Amino acid sequence: MTAAALIVAAGRGARAARNGLSPKQYAVLAGRSVLARAIAPFEASPAISTITVVIHPDDFELYAASNLGSFTKLTAPVMGGATRQDSVRLGLESLSAASPDLVLIHDAARPFVTDDIITRVLAALADHDGALAAVPLADTLKREQHAPLVETTIPRAGLWKAQTPQGFRYPAIQAAHRAASAADAPTFTDDASIAEWAGLGVALVPGSERNFKITTSEDMAMAEALLGASPLGYEPRTGTGFDVHAFTAGDHVWLGGIRIPHDQGLDAHSDGDAPLHALTDAILGALGDGDIGQHFPPSDPAWKGARSRLFVEDAARRLAARGGRITNVDLTILCEAPRIGPHRDAIRAEIADMLGIDITRVAVKATTTERLGFTGRKEGIAALATATLLLPF
Ligand code: MG
Repeated sequence: MTAAALIVAAGRGARAARNGLSPKQYAVLAGRSVLARAIAPFEASPAISTITVVIHPDDFELYAASNLGSFTKLTAPVMGGATRQDSVRLGLESLSAASPDLVLIHDAARPFVTDDIITRVLAALADHDGALAAVPLADTLKREQHAPLVETTIPRAGLWKAQTPQGFRYPAIQAAHRAASAADAPTFTDDASIAEWAGLGVALVPGSERNFKITTSEDMAMAEALLGASPLGYEPRTGTGFDVHAFTAGDHVWLGGIRIPHDQGLDAHSDGDAPLHALTDAILGALGDGDIGQHFPPSDPAWKGARSRLFVEDAARRLAARGGRITNVDLTILCEAPRIGPHRDAIRAEIADMLGIDITRVAVKATTTERLGFTGRKEGIAALATATLLLPF
């Protein structure tokens, strides 16, 4: 059983179009575009094999600038049509060659869809031609005749608000869309209503009030508040790093970005700052983005004698490019000498500066190894680091 996701991002938004603003699906929410947030749960769902985004022909540059490179299931975008219905039909036609068993159609402006909702919609397709996420109506409905007067109250029993994703057996929804297009049927505002028009059985499955569609500036503010007020939208990541450098002849060592006078130096291609190398690896580790040797090969003469601050700053840039932030970093330096205590706060301040975070988020600890092992024999220095990050989903 194969399932494709079709993300509909071709809408313009009336106000956006009027004011020359970017449509809401390309707006950035807590460091990541609404579109990327809408795609991410489908990327993460093992049930979904491919993801195709339908875009407005004028939006190709916005699409290209949306940082979607990390999604592995994404196919080339499809250009939409004059209405949402046309756009979805064109998206469905683009899946003809692949011909998945199931297709989930989802609004790009709903960034808070969850794996649970996706799973419920897919599960319902075992018994039905179509299924959509929806929530029961909680508010009483009024119809206005002459503003501001109420004409009538509409009973809300049995009424649901339709959301997306809406899932279908692919051949059935493709046929329904083709028939609706050919029959000059009324304009439909969602795909479930096209399926209903075509006589398909469509089931309601529980969506979530959080799975709302961003259409107005107020919706955008609500989405931002939701992301800012809770860890929703970010996941914590932890990485570790370890590094060793041997002592050699010299009169100082670099530790944590601070030059410390000593009766020996550290043997290295760069400045030998083991704590900063461990820290760089901890951040790269949390990002799942290789290690320091991969990004800065010791064989590369460019890094000969380099200040290790460069490596930490590069890792911080990689983090920033992913829209993440650092919660805290924790370093342990293992050596008999030099004594770290007198330099501890200078090192913390230096690392806080490299990472652009408050000093209270940086810990530096030091220990001897009770004269045991290579550090105990004063042959070298070792350093351990952990970094905890928050990354957008
Ligand atoms: Mg090193």
